[in-house]
Amino acid sequence: MGSQETTISVGGVAGPVHVKIFPVPDCLFCGIAASEIPATIVSSNPRTIAFRDINPQAPVHILVIPRAHHPNLAELAAADDGLLADLVAHAHEVALAEGIADTGYRVVFNTGRHGGQTVDHVHAHVIGGRQMTWPPG
Ligand code: AMP
Ligand code: ZN
Repeated sequence: MGSQETTISVGGVAGPVHVKIFPVPDCLFCGIAASEIPATIVSSNPRTIAFRDINPQAPVHILVIPRAHHPNLAELAAADDGLLADLVAHAHEVALAEGIADTGYRVVFNTGRHGGQTVDHVHAHVIGGRQMTWPPG
């Protein structure tokens, strides 16, 4: 996988949408976004993708990522192009599709070492299907 610009075509409401991305070499989630690494994709939008976490912590545990590489939540927020709002909207779409929107669910952005972030491509965990506890571990 190169670091140069890549244009991908994804299904949009009004037909294919062309999205420019800059995959980062050795980034696991860029690899999933580029379909180079397999994942169980549950839904995809022009700028975001949702797939099942490989190590689920609850009956529903789905990750929502931007196709474009942003290392963490702060850098995604700084991009200031509506992508963070798209990501959160997609997280809610996932909750509706999985039937957990009414019972409630948790959206988590682990950030940095103390936050427990292990993949440096920003991702929202959408977790539900059981009662969550607080405080988190
Ligand atoms: P975090 O620790 O917040 O950075 O979250 C990374 C998440 O990615 C963890 O919950 C992992 O279980 C999950 N994960 C790691 N590799 C894969 C993969 N190949 N497919 C799906 N989920 C993955
Ligand atoms: Zn990436």
